Amino acid sequence: MIITETIDEVRTARRQHALETLGLVTTMGFLHEGHLQLVRRAKAENDRVAATIFVNPKQFGPTEDLSRYPRDLQRDLHLLEAEGVDYVFVPGDEVIYPADYQTVVSVTGITNYLEGARRPTHFDGVTTVVAKLFNIMQPTRAYFGQKDAQQVAVVRQMVRDLNFNLDIVVCPTARETDGLAMSSRNKYLSSEQRRAATALYHALSGAETMWRAGERNSDVLRESMMQVLSIEPLAHVDYISAADPVTLREIEGEIPSDKGILLSMAVFFDKTRLIDNFLLTPAKQD
Ligand code: AMP
Repeated sequence: MIITETIDEVRTARRQHALETLGLVTTMGFLHEGHLQLVRRAKAENDRVAATIFVNPKQFGPTEDLSRYPRDLQRDLHLLEAEGVDYVFVPGDEVIYPADYQTVVSVTGITNYLEGARRPTHFDGVTTVVAKLFNIMQPTRAYFGQKDAQQVAVVRQMVRDLNFNLDIVVCPTARETDGLAMSSRNKYLSSEQRRAATALYHALSGAETMWRAGERNSDVLRESMMQVLSIEPLAHVDYISAADPVTLREIEGEIPSDKGILLSMAVFFDKTRLIDNFLLTPAKQD
């Protein structure tokens, strides 16, 4: 496995395999099974696999957890090597954002809702770094997790709007056995909070059961999720949403019969903010 910290080294490595397909998994490190599932899918579908590990300061708000974001580079590198990853790009902040850096890549529209409404600078940070990583790594396919549903929508929009020559592949959310979506941030949870954090999954599963039974009123689905979360004293709801999966706009009342629904939420456990979602379609749930 080639580990590189500079853009020149990445470009040299990519040139040597220019005719081969490359699958890219972008991460902020502190890897878990969710990241590794993206790596495995990328490995199965491409000649070569690259991963990036970069805790992107631009996607954290001023009061967010950048300084305490968990890191364990040696463990991450071992995990990636064991999966047969070919290249890992581990840039320092100054490689991605040199002192005279001046450009922002900004998707307008779908960034106004959900996470974007609560974290106003977040998606500009995401699209800026992802655009740079796409340009640096030159992947054939880039792999993202459904766990971050809005991120997928925003990156797809950027790829379409800016004509990036690659495919976005979305992988299902990897979960712990009790349903909690895997996340590097789960490490922040105390054992009590960890137990309580299954409330997100229970809220989403309950609403899914109602959807399967034919419930198509978005207010009823939102209310049922709120009820499940409100009986957990350690859970403090930031938002609960039932939104159009394409536009990400909130749907009020009846859900049109031709549409699915994106159920999503952000919930605080003290300072730790967890997100989760289910994408429900009339036929099946992703
Ligand atoms: P992060 O390191 O949190 O920026 O995540 C890097 C990539 O892994 C993103 O595409 C995430 O959506 C994806 N990811 C994170 N957690 C999960 C999970 N539990 N299941 C599937 N993909 C995930």
